Order: sequence, then structure tokens, then C-alpha cells
Amino acid sequence: MSATPDTIIGIDLGTTYSLVAVPGPGGPRVLRDASGDARLPSVVTLRPTAGAGLQVEVGWAARSGIVQSAGASVHSVKRLIGRSLSDVQAELPFLAYPVAAGPRDTLQVRLAGRDFTPQELSAFVLRALRERAIAALGHDVRRAVITVPAYFDDVQRQATRQAAELAGLDVVRIINEPTAAALAYGIGLRAKDRGRPHTVVVYDLGGGTFDVSVLRIDGDVFEVLSTAGDTHLGGDDFDLLLMKRLAGDDAASLAAGGVDAAQRAALRQAAESAKVRLSEADEAEVEFSLPGAGLTRKRVRRAELEALCAPLIDRTLAHCDAALRDAGIVVAELDEVVLVGGSTRMPLVRRRVEQHFGRRPCTALNPDEVVALGAAMQAAVLSGGSTDLLLLDVTPLSLGIETMGGAVGKLILRNTTIPCRAVESFTTFVDGQTAILVRVLQGERELAADCRELARFELRGIPPMPAGIPKVEVEFLIDANGILNVAARELRSGQSAGVQVLPNRGLTDDEVRRAVVESQQHAAADALTHRLIDLCNQVDFDTQKAEQMLARHGDRLPREERARIEREMAALRTRAAEARRDPRQTDADALHRALTDFGHGTLTLAEIGIREALAEATK
Ligand code: ADP
Ligand code: MG
Repeated sequence: MSATPDTIIGIDLGTTYSLVAVPGPGGPRVLRDASGDARLPSVVTLRPTAGAGLQVEVGWAARSGIVQSAGASVHSVKRLIGRSLSDVQAELPFLAYPVAAGPRDTLQVRLAGRDFTPQELSAFVLRALRERAIAALGHDVRRAVITVPAYFDDVQRQATRQAAELAGLDVVRIINEPTAAALAYGIGLRAKDRGRPHTVVVYDLGGGTFDVSVLRIDGDVFEVLSTAGDTHLGGDDFDLLLMKRLAGDDAASLAAGGVDAAQRAALRQAAESAKVRLSEADEAEVEFSLPGAGLTRKRVRRAELEALCAPLIDRTLAHCDAALRDAGIVVAELDEVVLVGGSTRMPLVRRRVEQHFGRRPCTALNPDEVVALGAAMQAAVLSGGSTDLLLLDVTPLSLGIETMGGAVGKLILRNTTIPCRAVESFTTFVDGQTAILVRVLQGERELAADCRELARFELRGIPPMPAGIPKVEVEFLIDANGILNVAARELRSGQSAGVQVLPNRGLTDDEVRRAVVESQQHAAADALTHRLIDLCNQVDFDTQKAEQMLARHGDRLPREERARIEREMAALRTRAAEARRDPRQTDADALHRALTDFGHGTLTLAEIGIREALAEATK
């Protein structure tokens, strides 16, 4: 067990989402809910119950209820915490609940017939995170590091501290969100290694806000040189633009209020989901309904979304320039650019940021999780642990990619000393294949389904060629900081794509031990399955080639010969299909013999093919 009863947890208390992470021997890890999501929506719903009771919902349940229970739900409390009514006048139109002045220049939110301070409402979110940590660690949790925006003043910081106290947490330290992100990437350690201070831009584009900070990191000292941003610019705006585009001619009725709250919310959700899918795919399909129009289905292309969002992204870059100017830094002096916030997953954002700063930004960590991870790293330091721990000098588990049929091709074996590099060539198994999905896997087992997927990306734009002809080189490179850079390149066309991940981050000793033990327990069965996958792939490939040759040269074979090959081809395919359906009942040796026999039985056909090809070539 990695955690001791006085574990300090790290909390990212966000405007839209909040997360909790805990320190561990392989570095910090975020804690997830039962469905694997680390994000807890920062939304609270309160309902009075019989007597003077109160029913509280936090997170996804509260968020999905926001439409139905308007008036009882609060969101974006972070915009209110530690502020007075005059501070937040401009916010009020964005909030779907009533806010009033409280005693001593504070604020109050009236819900379910009672008044709540922003601290009390934030405490519900913090309590839910604390409970998640207690459940995961198996013991009580009383101390936390909490992050706040770099521009928060003392009153806002103090109010955040009070919220934590109400949730039963003692705040050991409040740290700035950009500082946490830089910590998570180990930039302090890198600066120490290189023996000079580092200047870093942290670009944080979330759901509703954009923040940019310029940091100077010298040893253990993180100094915020400047901040800039826009408190109303983020993913929500992209959703809104896409929503208007989707509504098309109905946009007017959208604006005029001809659309009710539920329809609006549904359209918004459809737009957001399409936006998220367009970070991976070139095209997405959206379904929604508007009054009088019934169910509409539309396709949106990534290029359309990018054209809509580009002006807003340009605005974020103008804020970056302002922050650099305030800090007295020029682009050439920057050592790193760090991306934070869910919206930085958009390829357009990554591209524009890279162009603007002339360097590739850090993207190895999940941009939703990086602030919480950094808070947990600070927690580890404050617990007396060392952040050097995460710089393991070997790979604790093997790394590879999924190959045809769900097998794993391992490129770097466990216990390899880092830095290290491995390159392997792969090809296609289908004629005319123009894209390859690369799944980066970690684990000791032979099947992709039994390994952990670290990342995935698509290599596209391969010119159509017959199966087996494209040459795809996959490179795994782990640098001294433990960052794995995966690149795939098709050599004939020069097309390439890649991804960065931190493979060892968050792995516990237990997980490593379990992976090794399980691979030993399943070694025999795994080896058999892997062999069957390879054999079945070969069956597909050989029968496909034979089929093509029959189509071209079949007329030069005696009729019975041709019928025999067709029969054997069908029989072999049936055997492969059965082997796939029920690998345990398959005799791999027998399948291997059948494949060899098929090869012998089609020799004459193959020879005709080769002679033809030679004749063509020497014509
Ligand atoms: P905040 O810091 O504002 O609480 P996040 O950093 O979690 O929030 O960012 C949330 C935003 O990120 C939302 O607008 C969401 O739609 C967007 N987002 C999340 N994943 C993706 C993705 N894959 N592509 C584009 N946008 C995304
Ligand atoms: Mg955020």
C-alpha cells in the first residue's frame, strides 16, 4: 500500500470540474469514479426534504439535473468565492441561480429556502472529493493541498481555505494552478538538471475561462511573473458557436427564446459531444431536434469547427503576448510551454500554440488532470516524500502497440534502463488501407485486451497500396524525464503522426507486481492465443492472395484444380473463423499444417503468377 494514514491529498477545485489526486511511489495518480472518470462536475443540487432536512447531490447527478431542477442547482461557484456583490455584477447574467449581498460585504446564494455562502457550496464539492479519497485509500483523510488561479487575491484564497475546513480538510498549502501544472511536468527538476532557471508559459483553456501565466522556476522557487486571460472564454464558447451553426436557419428562434431550456440543453450537449469527437475524427454526426423541425441529423467537419473557433483562439494568443510583455520576456527566452484544460485537446489549439511559441508544448499528461497531479506532487513533498521518486530509471512494465487481430507487439521490455529507444516495422493487412490506428499499450500480457491503453492516435494519408506493401515504422523513445514519445511514419509516403505519454506515472508497486504475476500465470494460454492470432492473420493474407491470383490466372488451370483450390480456401477460412470464435478448442498445430498444405496446394497457381510477373517485368 502506497499511502499512510496521514496522506495529504491534492485537489484541483475547478470552475467546471474538480479532481482529487494522491501521491504514490510511481508519482501521483488521480482518483476516478466507478465509471473511470476522474472529473467531478463542480455542481451542487439541493432539495428540501420532509422536516428541515436537505438532500444534496454533487457531480454528474447534479449536472444532469441542472435543467429540470433550475433554481436548486449551483454551478461555477468558483466565480463567487471570496467576492462581494459589486465584484461579481458582470457575472450575474451567467448564473442560473439568485445571488444576493450577505453580511460584511459577502455573498449569499438562496437555495431550497435557505441562504448559503459560496464557501458552504464549495464545501459540498470538496467533501465529495475527500470521500472519494477516503474510499480509495481505505482510511480517513484530513489534509489537502488545494490549487487556485494565480490571480486569486488573499480574500479568495482565504475563502477557499474556509471551504475546505467546512469539508473537514486542513489546507496544508494553497498553490497556484500554473505552478501545479509545471510541478506535474517536473519542470523544476529539469531546471535543476540543466543548472539554470527556467521560464515557462502555462496556457490554460478550460470550459469557461482562459488563463495564461508566465512562471520563473529557480530550484524550488516558483515565481509567477505575470498573468493574463479572459474570465469568459473557453470551451463553452466553442459549443455555442457550433450550436448556432447547427441550428442554421433556426438560430433566430434559438436567440429569440423560441427554444425551451431542455431543447437548448440537449442541443448544447450534442454540440459539445461533436466538438470533443472532432478532436479525434475529421467528421462527426450530430442529432438534435428543434421545434417545428423534428429530428435533424447533420455532419460537421473538423475544418468547419476550426474556422468557427479560430478567432477566439487568436484572442487567447493575444493575451499570451500581453502576459509575456508584462513579464518582460520574449518568446525566444521561453524554456517550456505547458498546456492545461480540456480545450487544449483540440488539434487547432495545439497547432496554433506551437506556431505562436515556435516550440512543441508539453502534452504528455492529460490536460484535465495535470493540475490535480501537480497538487498531489506538492502534497508528496510536504509529506516528506521526494519528487525525485517519479524519475524511475527503468521501465517497470513492457510497452508496445496493438498488432493485427488484437495481439501485442512489444517494443520496450520491462526493466529496460531509460533513456531508451526502439524501432519496429509494421505493414497493412488489407488492400488499399489508408489509415492505421496506433494503440500504445503497457503490460506483460500477450493480448491487447489484457494490457492498459496509454494513448491512441491515427496515422492517416497512406496512399492506397496492396496489403503488405506499406512500410510503417513505429518508434518508441523514452527520454531521461520518463516521457515516452511514440511516432509512426509510413516510409513510402512520408506521412507521420505521434503522441507523448508519461507511462510510469501513477503506477503503484502493487499494479506492477500484479501485472507480472498475471503474465506468468497466463503465459501458456497467452502464448497459444498469440500463436493462433498470427496463424489466422496468415490464413487471411494467404487466402486473399490466392483469391486474387485465381481471379487473374484461374482460367489457365484445369477446372478440377480450380474447384479444389476454391474448396480448400473455403475450408481453411472456416477453420480460421472457428479458431477465432473458440481459441481454446483449437488445435494450433493442425491449423498450422492446414495452412502449410494450402500453400503446397496452390504452388502451381503461385508459379503461374510469378512467371506472369516476370514476363511483365522483362517485356
Ligand atoms: P475547467 O478548468 O474550466 O473547470 P476543463 O479544463 O476540464 O474545465 O475543460 C473543460 C472543457 O474542455 C469543456 O468545454 C470540454 O468540452 C472541453 N473538452 C474536453 N475534452 C475535449 C476534447 N477532447 N476536445 C475538445 N474539447 C474538450
Ligand atoms: Mg481548469
